[in-house]
Amino acid sequence: MDNRQWMGRDLAHLWHPCTQMKDHENLPVIPIRRGEGAWLEDFEGRRYLDAISSWWVNLFGHANPRINAALHEQLEQLEHVLLAGFSHAPAIELAERLCAIAPPGLSRVFYADNGSSAVEVALKMSFHYWRNRGETGRTRFVTLANSYHGETLGALAVGNVELYRDTYGPLLMETLTVPSPDCFGVPPEEWAAHGEAALEPLEETLERHAGEVCAVIVEPLVQCAGYMRMYHPAYLKGLREACDRHRVHLIADEIAVGFGRTGTLFACEQAAITPDFLCLSKGLTGGYLPLSAVLTGEEVYDAFYDDYQRLTAFLHSHSYTGNPLACRAALATLELFATEPVLERNRGLAHRMAEATTPLKDHPHVAEVRQTGMILAIELARHGREAYPWQERRGLRVYRHGLERGVLLRPLGNVVYFMPPYVITPEEIELMVQVAAEGIDLATRD
Ligand SMILES: *Cc1c(COP(=O)(O)O)cnc(C)c1O
Repeated sequence: MDNRQWMGRDLAHLWHPCTQMKDHENLPVIPIRRGEGAWLEDFEGRRYLDAISSWWVNLFGHANPRINAALHEQLEQLEHVLLAGFSHAPAIELAERLCAIAPPGLSRVFYADNGSSAVEVALKMSFHYWRNRGETGRTRFVTLANSYHGETLGALAVGNVELYRDTYGPLLMETLTVPSPDCFGVPPEEWAAHGEAALEPLEETLERHAGEVCAVIVEPLVQCAGYMRMYHPAYLKGLREACDRHRVHLIADEIAVGFGRTGTLFACEQAAITPDFLCLSKGLTGGYLPLSAVLTGEEVYDAFYDDYQRLTAFLHSHSYTGNPLACRAALATLELFATEPVLERNRGLAHRMAEATTPLKDHPHVAEVRQTGMILAIELARHGREAYPWQERRGLRVYRHGLERGVLLRPLGNVVYFMPPYVITPEEIELMVQVAAEGIDLATRD
């Protein structure tokens, strides 16, 4: 069966995520038959370089031999068992490994099965912690402008990207929003000061709402879905101090930035902080299976630990919590980090991405090229200053051009970005950047 036939069958029944389905009247759905390394291949043998790690999940390539082997082995043993009252080796080993590599002080692991659910868990746990401690007046969450934490209703409520949120506004709990430390347009040498300045309104909010706030939730260093806006670790450092001073939790949502994307294994390391809750998903399984984890410390754990009759337990659950296959894929992924110089190799690749994109800084319609580790973003603007109206869908033109040239780019509005799997080669980086540059030329021609 060829692409067209698969596409026809697809459009007869599938409703795709994050998609206006009418777009597919003249935009193809690309059916993928197989993947290998950084490449995807369709049913007619056309190949696409996966420059965005299939929505930021893939770390070590598609059909990675070592992860495949681990999964085959696990499949012969156990596919799934409930995690209430029962347990299994992959869940236990993974919890041990996560606690060993996470920032110090995180010693308890609660599993869920996707990123949004992890955020829900962290929000509920924080609220419930205060309640168990007798502070029932704490019901609010502080969130940053332009943040994204997923799309279930609780996660959407603490998010701030209008495109995803506004429609559902009437359904969402009210949050306290503070300015983002986003450094768009700020020269690199001023990033730290810019971040520190953004702490002032945060402090004010925490002061004004003393005793009402459960937690501040933040995406460390890069607001990925928020157009890849970036900021300095100095903000995180100050934020940790502010949370301590005002006695509120800090939830670090490292669902997108965890596992090496920012240059360190976890972004929080760059500020040398430990959050009260660390949310992980996406790269956790190397991009193989849905799984998420919320890490926290003994202080939080203890607040729930009591006789059953006191009803302080955290009763949250999902059917596939801690699925053995997913945990095994995660263990194989962590094994790759442990046995190969991944972060060091990535420094070389990140440098290649920086070099290859240097000429784009002088493009007449590029406002900024910014980078944090293995995430590089190019923000388009007319004459480098005037934001293109979203209705013009300039990024979509880049996407189309990428497909024609065999590179999967999926710009966020006017922001073209790269977040490739770590198995990408320097030559593939050249190709990826060249095709993006052509696409940017085409997309900004008028
Ligand atoms: C993707 C993402 C989520 C949501 O994860 P899902 O698995 O898509 O529900 C939450 N937070 C951040 C920062 C993300 O990038």
